[in-house]
This record gives sequence, structure tokens and C-alpha cells, in this order.
Amino acid sequence: MRLARLTTAVVTVALATAMSACGSSTKIADQGGGSADSAGALVGVTMPTKSSERWIADGNNVKAALEKLGYKVDLQYAENDIPTQVNQIENQITKGAKLLIIASIDGTAITTQLQEAADKKIPVIAYDRLIRKSPNVDYYATFDNYKVGVQQATSLLVGLGLKKEDGSEGTAKGPFNIELFAGSPDDNNATFFFNGAMDTLKPYIDKGTLVVKSKQTDFKTVAILRWDPATAQKRMEDLITKTYTGGTKVQGVLSPYDGLSIGILSALKSSGYGTAGQPYPIVTGQDAEVASVKSIIAGEQYATIYKDTRKLADVTVKMADAVLKGAKPEVNNTKDYDNGNKVVPSYLLDPVIVYKSNYKAALVDSGYYTADQLK
Ligand code: BGC
Repeated sequence: MRLARLTTAVVTVALATAMSACGSSTKIADQGGGSADSAGALVGVTMPTKSSERWIADGNNVKAALEKLGYKVDLQYAENDIPTQVNQIENQITKGAKLLIIASIDGTAITTQLQEAADKKIPVIAYDRLIRKSPNVDYYATFDNYKVGVQQATSLLVGLGLKKEDGSEGTAKGPFNIELFAGSPDDNNATFFFNGAMDTLKPYIDKGTLVVKSKQTDFKTVAILRWDPATAQKRMEDLITKTYTGGTKVQGVLSPYDGLSIGILSALKSSGYGTAGQPYPIVTGQDAEVASVKSIIAGEQYATIYKDTRKLADVTVKMADAVLKGAKPEVNNTKDYDNGNKVVPSYLLDPVIVYKSNYKAALVDSGYYTADQLK
């Protein structure tokens, strides 16, 4: 429906241009959708929280790129509080935003606001996290989230010696004790990450090469609400005291986000891991946040997944600009992101595994961080 409307907008712009060339004063904006009148329009940008570096960078990058194109930007953070985000979106609609870019906290909690936006013909772009159960999402810009999960599991296998960084088979035999963590159950990405990871780990679990000693393998049990590091730390402490008794050690931990990895490592440290005699297990991550990259360099966290948020901001702003001008933005996936209501046309970017061996090439040479930031 919304796509159809956008297509109509393209035609409308063409028509209106032709008409104004003939001296007609028809206002294109009155027809709804994007228009030449969008110059300098207000764009509402909502991000989940400032408690993680990545979202700060995302917000700043999106804002700067929009401003460079002459748009006005209202950028808001909600500290992971759903009612706060709901209010922010409502305010942006009231203030006259002509387009909304939303990185949601709970992908199903903003349906009413999205309906309001649709009624006012305000297009919506879901940023990084899919907005679920609403027809009123026009586009989605993100990374290949299933692949992120595959890469997280792959880095765990590499750390354990079951695979090599080049993808070939490793020489280790196992069995290895591992534990699993997943992200926030209300974030659609968390399921994609977990599915990608479990599809990759399952053959090893089935063969007994990997043993989830706690037997906690289902998404609901291992998910960490709101991606909260303290909750992950507590769960790791509980796993250690309940499952790893009598000298048994955990050798690998699938962690889906650097913030959780820090909580997990801290629980391990308090229980005596991280010494020469008792090294840390292989702990994975995501986002290449500074503290975690430093931890990787120090040999604590094993790996992370680098998602270049500069590129995500760039793709999103290009989408926004096209939509505001009544054109069709570029997408590269029209099948994988069904939000329960429609398949949302998406642009997926490629994530990269970062180990101690390639952090310089991936993060410093690309200008994502300076060498000094990682000291
Ligand atoms: C993002 C991840 C991030 C996580 C926690 C997910 O939606 O895709 O990059 O680690 O949220 O903030």
C-alpha cells in the first residue's frame, strides 16, 4: 500500500513538474508523499539509548548526513524506556516531521504512533531494528543480521580451534563446554542473530563436540531483556555457581553484543578465570565498541562483529532523501524481513568478524577508530 503510494508520488512529482512548467501552481505536497517542497524539511530520528557507543555514533552520523543535505533534524534517545520513545515519536509527528527514522526499543510497541504517521502521510524508515506488526513501515536499513549470528558462532569455533580464520577446518577435537546468550526478545535482530548462530553451532552440538552444560539452549531462556550487561553478568554468575562446580570449566560463551560480553567477562573474572592457569573462555561479541576492542587486544574477549555504522547512516539518509523527494530508494533485499504484516523492502550491509589478528586492518585502516582510541 505504502509502496504504491510512494510510486504514485513519483508520478505526482513528474506530473506536477510538467504542470508547473506550464505555469500551474499546484502544490505537490498537498498530494501527500515526498515532494520538491521537502527541501529543508524536519526529519525525526529516534535512537534507543546512549548507554552503548554504537547508537551515539549512529545518531550523530545520521543527523550530520541529513543536515548536510539541508534537512532539519530532531534526534532523540530514550534510554531504553519504551514510553519515552513513544512520546518522542508522537512529539516529532506534532512538530511536523516529514519523515521518521526509528531504531526501536520494542519493535511492536509503536504501532499507534505509526498509524498516526501514516494518517499524516509521514513515511517511516526502520533503522537497524525491524519495526514489527505494523503495515506502516516503508523501508528498512540494516546489516545482514542472520550473517552476524553465523559470524558470531564462527568466531567461537575459531577461538576453540574447531575452525581456522580462513574458514578451513581446525585441528581441535573437543568436547568443549559452552554457554549461550541471546539479545533482547523484543528486538527482532536478537532472533536473527541467535538463529544464525545456532544453525552454525548445531552440527557440533549434535556430534557432542560442543556441550551446552547448563542445557539452556532455547532462545527465551538465554535471552537478555534490553541487552542489559548487568543481567548478563548475573546470568553468567548463576551458570558458574550452578553448572560449573567441582572443577568443570566453561570454555566458550556465545555473546551477541559487546556490552553483554563485558558483563560476562566480569562474572568470569570474579570466579577466578582470566589467569595463566585458568584462562578466560572464548567470548564473542558485536559492535566493535572501543572497550571490547581493547579487551580483544588484551586477550580477554576473543572476537567481535564490526558493523560500519557510518555506512548504515549513509544508506539510511540516501533512502530518506529519495523518499522525501518522491523517488524510490535503492534496496537489495525484498524477501527476508517480514514484519508480521508485510515484507519490508530492505537494504542489507555486510558485517565483518574482528579478531586480534585483523582489528588494525578492519578498524584503524578504515578510519573507524584512530590507533590512539584503542590504546
Ligand atoms: C543491534 C546490535 C546491538 C544490539 C544492542 C541490536 O539491535 O543490531 O548492533 O548490539 O541491538 O544494542
